[in-house]
Amino acid sequence: MKRALFPGSFDPITLGHYDIIHRALDLFDEIVVAIGVNNEKNCMFSVEQRKEFIEKAFADEPKVKVTTYQGLTVDFCKEIKAQFILRGLRNPADFEFEKAIAHTNRTLSKIETVFLLTAAKTSFISSSIVRDVIRNGGNYTVLVPESVKLDKNVNYKKL
Ligand code: ADP
Repeated sequence: MKRALFPGSFDPITLGHYDIIHRALDLFDEIVVAIGVNNEKNCMFSVEQRKEFIEKAFADEPKVKVTTYQGLTVDFCKEIKAQFILRGLRNPADFEFEKAIAHTNRTLSKIETVFLLTAAKTSFISSSIVRDVIRNGGNYTVLVPESVKLDKNVNYKKL
């Protein structure tokens, strides 16, 4: 059973994340999308909202599971028996950052990080740009899966 952990903040999930998860389905038996709960990070969406957006986006895909975690990513991989970490690469800046993390994780454990290059048409998308568009009243729906819908009754943090 090849299980990969796809860790991130997913604040919110974007079409870029969606593309990476979708393409990785051919490589792994199970993909666990794990929202890292980091108290220092001030997120726009609550953990519950972020989880629901991802769950709804993959409601028809039994190989995708969604969860949250705290602490070291490699410790969580061991806990859920994931042999791989999945990450997406958009540009050289991502590469430099991800390289250091992957080397560190490989030093701390035997877990391999598998990188997928983004599809050209979603390579410019980031959660922070999506948040900016939302904050300024723009049409964010072209950047995210359909499951990401703003509930008018919920107040999002205008970070
Ligand atoms: P983090 O806070 O860990 O960077 P993110 O939710 O921003 O969490 O990203 C999680 C993963 O998704 C990272 O590997 C990141 O490179 C990747 N990613 C983010 N945006 C895109 C995109 N547009 N296309 C492909 N991968 C992406």
